[in-house]
Amino acid sequence: MITLAERLQKLPPYLFVDLRQKMAAAKERGVDVISLGIGDPDFPTPDPVVETLCNAIQNTSDPDRHRYGCDSPVPEFPEAVREFYQHRYGVSLSEEQIVTTLGSKDAIVKMALGILNPGDIGIAASPGYPTYNIGHVFASATTYYAPLLRENNFYVDFDSIPDDVKRLAKVLWINYPNNPTTAIADLDFFQRAVEFGRQNNILIAHDNAYSENTYDGYRSPSILQVDGADEVAVEFFSLSKAFNMTGWRLGFVVGNPTAVEAVKKVKDNIDNGSLRALQFSGAKALSIADEITPKLNVIYQKRRDMVVDALTQSGWILEKPKATMYVWAPVPERFNGSSRAFATALLEEAGVVVTPGLGYGQWSEGYFRISLTYPNEVIEEAISRISDFSSKTT
Ligand SMILES: *Cc1c(COP(=O)(O)O)cnc(C)c1O
Repeated sequence: MITLAERLQKLPPYLFVDLRQKMAAAKERGVDVISLGIGDPDFPTPDPVVETLCNAIQNTSDPDRHRYGCDSPVPEFPEAVREFYQHRYGVSLSEEQIVTTLGSKDAIVKMALGILNPGDIGIAASPGYPTYNIGHVFASATTYYAPLLRENNFYVDFDSIPDDVKRLAKVLWINYPNNPTTAIADLDFFQRAVEFGRQNNILIAHDNAYSENTYDGYRSPSILQVDGADEVAVEFFSLSKAFNMTGWRLGFVVGNPTAVEAVKKVKDNIDNGSLRALQFSGAKALSIADEITPKLNVIYQKRRDMVVDALTQSGWILEKPKATMYVWAPVPERFNGSSRAFATALLEEAGVVVTPGLGYGQWSEGYFRISLTYPNEVIEEAISRISDFSSKTT
């Protein structure tokens, strides 16, 4: 009999599967289902980026255009990364501090494989992106979840991490602007994170997936802005959310040279790099970030206001998030803090899909996430249904 590896059995159930099944069942019953569940930009990739891809793939004078990206890398991409980090954050990067990736999700797991031994601990901030833990499971390491609490500004409380965890831990994953809580971090917090890494020989891995999705004039910092950060910190940047390029699978990891080397070595042995045309396109996107992101952020900011204003009118007490493509809200009282019960009832009775907090770990129970990556009219309809639904008392 053919059986699956134990590591697959150790993976947590993928929360969206349950929701997907309930969604299909509701549709079958004739419910008109609309979703605000997934964080995947609805607007297309900007034209200049698409044009760069088309031109590069059709460029017959590039004899390497079809070749393995790792053997024929495009120097324009790391160069664009360097310029972007210099211009955006005032951070200088050298060659051994940059590696091109197939998006961050892939790179997160590869870095775990490249730095963790069986029995090591990886610390994952929680609520957080599930992939940090998945990287640990694949590397036969274990996860310690460091809670992000509202009363701590959703910052990691470094003092509360037990000594035996600190001794065995090799990496700490953080993510600001944060998915799903929408929390942001200032440089002072990053400074403390770097200090913690230095004192305990723990790599601080900052997942910077939402750095460009910011509002009200807010600009989010890079952990590499902290003096000496590259001794212990590494940053994962993705073109997915910043430039509407989720399906392209392109990102990069920058900072601590050992961590970068770990990702490079795992990649060399698994993925053989990104298509050259993709790398040219990514360089283009990074070089025109100043033109692209303000326009996108105007749209998300309007949607954010629509959602938060409507929920506020229905009695929710919410602040407007300064970043990410999400709104993070508590479930109404009558659900006694069960995000799954709320999400299920909302789907079955109102035909609206939201993401239950529980999918991001026990520390996010009691909350749900709304994604702003849907057309205005879909958001409007969904929010009006949520308001009607929440005004019911049973
Ligand atoms: C979307 C997301 C990513 C992954 O993006 P890629 O498309 O794999 O680059 C990483 N971290 C967080 C927190 C995300 O929300």
